[in-house]
Amino acid sequence: MFAQDLKALQDFLAKTIAKLEGVTVVSSNIIAKIVKEQPGIILRPGLGLRLTCNFCGREIKGKPETHKIGDREHSFCCKTCRASYKEKYQHRLRSLSKT
Ligand SMILES: [Zn+2]
Repeated sequence: MFAQDLKALQDFLAKTIAKLEGVTVVSSNIIAKIVKEQPGIILRPGLGLRLTCNFCGREIKGKPETHKIGDREHSFCCKTCRASYKEKYQHRLRSLSKT
């Protein structure tokens, strides 16, 4: 599918650019190279973000353990902290879930 699109793009550019004044050489190899080298958007989770554990306050490195309370998402450094937090705020959680 991509190769077909690329071929179509090359054909289009070759036909269009060839008609332009002053353009004498159209290399499909160059076009292919440009298309290939378009930088993609690379998203890495947590990159540039500083998350701290909602229970122990330590900086979370790597993928955080999350727990949603109401409409807020809380992050924890490990499953233990998440479980401890849930236990500590169980009463609060119960009252929140009622509303
Ligand atoms: Zn923690």
